Order: sequence, then C-alpha cells, then structure tokens
Amino acid sequence: MPAKFDNSFARLGPEFGTRQMPLPLANATLIHLNQALAEALALPQEAVQQMVLGEPLPPGCEPLAMVYAGHQFGGFSPQLGDGRGLLLGEWCTAGNRWDLHLKGAGRTPYSRFGDGRAVLRSSLREYLGSAAMQGLGIPTTQALALAGSRQTVMRERAEPGATLLRVTRCHIRFGHFEYFFYQNQQPLLEKLVNYCASRYLAQGQYSPDDTRANARALLALATRSTAKLIAHWQATGFAHGVMNTDNMSLIGETFDFGPYGFLDDFEPGFICNHSDDQGRYAFDRQAAIGLWNLNALAHSLSGLIAIDDIKTELAHYQHTLSETYYTLMMGKLGLKAQANETQQALLQDLLTLLAANRTDYTGFFRALSESAEQARDLITDRPGALQWLERYSACCNQAAVPERETYMRARNPKFILRNYLAQQAIESAEAGDFSMLEDLFTVLSAPYDEHPGHSALAKPPAAHQKHLPVSCSS
Ligand code: AMP
Ligand code: MG
Repeated sequence: MPAKFDNSFARLGPEFGTRQMPLPLANATLIHLNQALAEALALPQEAVQQMVLGEPLPPGCEPLAMVYAGHQFGGFSPQLGDGRGLLLGEWCTAGNRWDLHLKGAGRTPYSRFGDGRAVLRSSLREYLGSAAMQGLGIPTTQALALAGSRQTVMRERAEPGATLLRVTRCHIRFGHFEYFFYQNQQPLLEKLVNYCASRYLAQGQYSPDDTRANARALLALATRSTAKLIAHWQATGFAHGVMNTDNMSLIGETFDFGPYGFLDDFEPGFICNHSDDQGRYAFDRQAAIGLWNLNALAHSLSGLIAIDDIKTELAHYQHTLSETYYTLMMGKLGLKAQANETQQALLQDLLTLLAANRTDYTGFFRALSESAEQARDLITDRPGALQWLERYSACCNQAAVPERETYMRARNPKFILRNYLAQQAIESAEAGDFSMLEDLFTVLSAPYDEHPGHSALAKPPAAHQKHLPVSCSS
C-alpha cells in the first residue's frame, strides 16, 4: 500500500472532538526538521513543512481538536482537550498509522483561557526532549519539525511564537477514557475501547466482538508499558514533571513534554516543575504516581472489567517496573542481571553514596564505563568511594558481562539534555541563532557516541546553572 493520509479518529464522530483548521503564525519559517524521522516514515519533506507551518495542509488531512478529561495534580478536570494542538491526520505506511499533531495551532473550543499558542522556549524544549528520549532508546512521542515566527505570544513577557509537529502511533491519553466515563457515556466509552483495541493491541489480542476482553487487554497494555516506561525514566534520571492523567499515553510513551528535567546531581527528591509545590511529581514519586494514574484509568473501565480482573492486571505493575529497572541498572553497571542480593545491595549502596555526595548521575555512570579512577574522582567521600569500588570490582569478577566497558558505554550516555544547556539553546534561538539547537540535536540523537568535537555539551552545570526554574504550560 502506498503511504497516504487517513482520519480514522475523526470518523469516530463529533463527540470525540471538534474539526478545525490551524491558524498559522504570521510569516512562520522552518527552524528544524528531523530528516531521519521524515525518511523513516517516508514522509516527503514538503508535506512536513506544510504541516508544521499549518498551511497549505497536504491533501487528505482533516484536522481536529480531541476532547479528553484528566486528573491534574490529583484533582479531576471533567473537560480538557487539545487547547492549542490539532490532530492533523494519520499517515499510513505499510503496517503503521502515525498521528500527526500540530502544537501551537491556535485556539480551539478547549482552549479555556489560553491563547492556543506555544512559545519557542517550550517548543524547543519538547523538540530536543523528544529527540533525547529517542536517542536514549526510551519510548516517546517524536518531534518531526519546529517552526518559528516573529509573531510574539504574551506570557510573563512577550516571547516568540512557535509550532511543533509531533508524531506518534498514539495520541490517546488515560484522560480520553475518563472523559466518557465521568460523562456517563458508556456506548461512547465502548466505541473508544474498541477503536483503541483494533489499533493498539497485538494481533490476536483484539476481539472484534468482545468489548470487555478488549478493555481488559488495553488495561494490561497500559499497565505493562507504563511500568517499563517509568523504569526507564528512573534508570536514566528523567523527571517528567506533570504526570497528570491527561499526559499519560495509553501505549506508555513519554508524552507532553512540559517542565521535565534530567537529573544533574543525583537527588532522589528532585522536583523539576517549579509550580509543583507539594512535590507530587518528584523524581522518586514517579513509580507510585504511575500506579495512581493506572488506577484512574482502571476506574474509568470498571464497567467493562470485573474488579478481580482489574486487580490482577494492576498487580503486574510493580513487578514489571522492578524487573525492568533492575535489568537496566545492572546493564549500566556492566553486570549480568541475576536476582542476586549482593548485586541489589551494591546498587542500593551506590545510589545512597551518590545522593549523599550530590554526584552527577550521568557523569558518574559514564566515568565508571571508562575506569574506576575516573568514577572515584567524582565522589567527594573518597573512603566511601573506594570501599564501594572494591565491592564493585569483586562483583565484576563474579558477574561482569564480556567486554564490560564497551557494553557500559552503550548504556550510559555521555550526553543528556541538561537544563542549563536547553536554556542556552533557547536564549540563542530567541536571538535567531540555531547552531546550539543543531549541535544538541546531533549529540542527543546519538548520546552514547563520543562526539569528540562536542564534549563541552557533556559537562555538568556549574553551581549557579543548577535548579533553573521551569514551570507548567507555556
Ligand atoms: P499541558 O500543561 O500542556 O499538558 O496543558 C494542559 C491543558 O491546557 C491542555 O488541555 C492544553 O491543551 C491546555 N493548554 C495549555 N496551554 C494552552 C494555551 N496556550 N492555549 C490554550 N490551551 C492551552
Ligand atoms: Mg498536556
């Protein structure tokens, strides 16, 4: 089948969203295009450009704003929706259907008090954040292109406006199911369940005539994929920042990049979102919040799944998360993953040591992939470091993988998107210089490689560059 646009979600009916055309920014121009991704999707560059600029849309696109609900910071908002984004259409390649979503496309019926716009600052953060996740091998929505304009958007100050073209197989959030459940619209909820089941369940799991089986299989999919995703976040040192149920993807991708942050120093209680006063979405609470969110999803499906079956499905969460996390962390240490108490204690004690010394998380693991000495030098408590390294060396004698250093360098990135670097890229971009964006895009797309010419981009922040404030929607 030749690739083409389709609009299967739009065909579900008017209860699922509002059809609307983008309102392009004045004199917008392309800032960056993810060529490798466009090629992988066999999407012509011209079509990508048209979509990110919002006009003229390629033939076959029928844009719409989706409606959904969500638990935001624990409180339920019965109606949210795409307030500044539009699902432009679905790009169908052999075997896959890719949602194309334009963020910053103008006001919609779900904009509430917002202006429907996105600023360059937050769009650039999403663009680089999703490239970084993709480069790290963590499930994520991807960004295909970024456009900017001199047309300003009012926030705390007037800022340049931007649009971002996002692509993923799935724009369905936990909050989509909550919307129909709390509206008491059971037939529409069932329609959504069957639609998602036909699109996202593995072959053989979708039952055309059994909505209840589909609901349970979707809960199983969300549970396992969310558990794996959060294990990746914890192993990499990524804090999402706004894990509201409207920002949770049904298929477990990193979704809706807002005030996210990668850890610099290893601080378990790190809160990346300046507006999160209570620390609800602190780094070390993400695992618990993932389960809280899955409970909210399960509740909205409780008319279709027996309570014991819900419990059975949700019970897989903790186990999947721990197993994935442990496997990833043993990989970072270059050890064979066995359920071995000595190795678990070694890992736990390392994390305690890194936290007590406020050691750079990414830097430490990369250094350990080079030599014990380099790792040692990053820890202030030298006797503590030496003691741990001795135990590590003993573990390596027992359980190291072959070619340990090479193996570790493929699992411990040299480059992550540090906040201070994102901030520098934003400031240059606002002044019309996109070279730092280009450089970051290059290293973040292949973060395990050395990129010797770009080593400065691997540096941890200086003290005054830590804890830069980043907050919600912009
Ligand atoms: P977010 O914090 O980006 O996940 O957004 C939460 C909700 O607010 C979603 O329904 C967004 O569509 C909406 N929203 C965020 N920013 C704007 C904006 N500038 N204009 C209109 N709606 C917005
Ligand atoms: Mg959102």
